[in-house]
Amino acid sequence: MIQYILFDLDNTLYSARYGLEDNVHRRIRDFLAAYLGVSPEEAWRQRAERLHDYGTTLEWLNAERGFTDIEAYFALVHPEDEADALPPDPALRAFLESLSQAKAILTNSPREHADRIIGKLGLSGIFTHIFDIRGNDLKGKPHPEAFFRAFDGMGASPGETLFIDDTPAYVEGCRALGGQGVLLDEYDAWPDYRYPKIRDLRELGEMLGRFSGAFIDTV
Ligand SMILES: [Mg+2]
Repeated sequence: MIQYILFDLDNTLYSARYGLEDNVHRRIRDFLAAYLGVSPEEAWRQRAERLHDYGTTLEWLNAERGFTDIEAYFALVHPEDEADALPPDPALRAFLESLSQAKAILTNSPREHADRIIGKLGLSGIFTHIFDIRGNDLKGKPHPEAFFRAFDGMGASPGETLFIDDTPAYVEGCRALGGQGVLLDEYDAWPDYRYPKIRDLRELGEMLGRFSGAFIDTV
């Protein structure tokens, strides 16, 4: 029985078409270029080459490149006006309120970013917990510790939690722990994905209505 729904934040609670995450990536790329002293293209290539060993760019920089100015990085990557293009989503709020399960957020971003997004979308008060990257000691998804911290904080077991994320590696990180992970694949970028996936959060209603452990594992 699902007691909690654990949501990713970016490109999960709002559409990728707003470009917020693209802008985050552009700021990260420009920062990397300056910090590493290479072109933006080369910086992005180096990031792609190493990121598979880490949950975030910051974790890679910290572990391999001696970068320690964490707060400066967050301030640069997440400026105060970063979410100004995001409109309120009262339909999403109504849908989330219609679900009986408790709801929380697990994000690899800092808390101030999550608060901005939630505020802009008009989703204040919906989530019981926001598990952010500082709270996870900068080791976020897909590290097991990040998921366990969320399960402990919510007071729900992996089997009682439905986790939704648009990044396959994070969904699979949750599933590896016995969690119920669902991929949000808005543009059908992963047509052959072997685990349950949805293209819109509203599909969760039907999924939860039909839910059983057997269902979620065999779809
Ligand atoms: Mg995301």
